[in-house]
Amino acid sequence: MKIASRLVSFDPAPGDRFRPISTPIYQTATFEQEFSDQFGDYDYSRSGNPTRAVVEKQIASLENGTHGYCFSSGMAAITTATKLLQNGEEILADNDLYGGTCRLFTKVLKRTGISAKYADACDLENFERQITPKTKLIYVESPTNPLLRVVDLRKLAAMAHAHDALLCVDNSTMSPYLQNPLDLGADVVLHSGTKFLGGHHDVTAGSIVVKDKALAEQIYFVQNAEGNALAPFDCYLLLRGMKTLKLRLDCQQKNAQAIAEYLDQHKSIQRVFYPGLKNDRGYELQRSQARGAGAVLSFTTGSVALSKAIAENARLFRITVSFGSVNSSISVPGNMSHASVPVELMAQRDLPKDLVRISVGIEDEEDLLADLDRAILSFR
Ligand SMILES: *Cc1c(COP(=O)(O)O)cnc(C)c1O
Repeated sequence: MKIASRLVSFDPAPGDRFRPISTPIYQTATFEQEFSDQFGDYDYSRSGNPTRAVVEKQIASLENGTHGYCFSSGMAAITTATKLLQNGEEILADNDLYGGTCRLFTKVLKRTGISAKYADACDLENFERQITPKTKLIYVESPTNPLLRVVDLRKLAAMAHAHDALLCVDNSTMSPYLQNPLDLGADVVLHSGTKFLGGHHDVTAGSIVVKDKALAEQIYFVQNAEGNALAPFDCYLLLRGMKTLKLRLDCQQKNAQAIAEYLDQHKSIQRVFYPGLKNDRGYELQRSQARGAGAVLSFTTGSVALSKAIAENARLFRITVSFGSVNSSISVPGNMSHASVPVELMAQRDLPKDLVRISVGIEDEEDLLADLDRAILSFR
């Protein structure tokens, strides 16, 4: 089956004799056992819950993996993935990462004896030179957020494996509808389900998908041992959101393309970052590894004051951190989502101060274009 069908046709409640068509919220912490010396399918919701099992199976299937795990947030999923490493080992990450991921790697992980190094993963030769025998995890996003740089996932997977390391890809900006990193050679794919998977900004969630049994066992062990799994009601919301993933993204992506083209020819806009534009540096690579350019884009204006005015004067684009919802949103990452990047790292990253990021929603294209046009013109 193709994706639109797969998103809605799955067993919503395995084993439920009432055969509900929507997955029930099994709001229970514990499950009664028939025998005192053996367990049934479920015993305790931290270890396993039927609502969670449905959404975990669905996300694993959409990513063409074998095992999926859902967590209380994207950060909880990322934290769990880092538990694949031991004290003394290293992560090599691309330097255009989600701010919270940088903060976790630099300020929290360091205390546990795992270190992180950053380099530009678009420059493959230099990136490979940063690998040491201690490097066990290569960690990237593609396209990156907020600069929409496309990194070569096939080549990075080959590079990781040549050095006996794993490739972990944060696929939040694409979703499994547009890109499947496991098919390109990655070992671990993770999502902030808060973004496109949930799609309505009404749930905070994260997920990990793998295709290797030994990795799956390690991830499950940590999920159960640390107790960071997604709660039943949030699993329900995530699953409900995922059913319309294709519908939403088809519309959001079409709107995003129109907006990118409009901004690209606008005299008040300096540079547009969107891999769906033919003149974008990542256009060809994006086409070779993904099925679309997504619905997040960013641009510079040459003036921090103008960028601020656009964000504040737009009405359909609400100022919010985060992306991926049915509503359009706008942010100035240097001031907002990336304020969590430690100062020393911010200096190494070339994040323009006047950069505006937008996430395009499902509103009407004409309304979105008119709103941006008005917001740009309102600055004098
Ligand atoms: C939002 C985000 C995260 C963190 O996810 P939460 O659900 O907010 O914890 C991680 N990676 C990327 C790329 C994100 O955009």
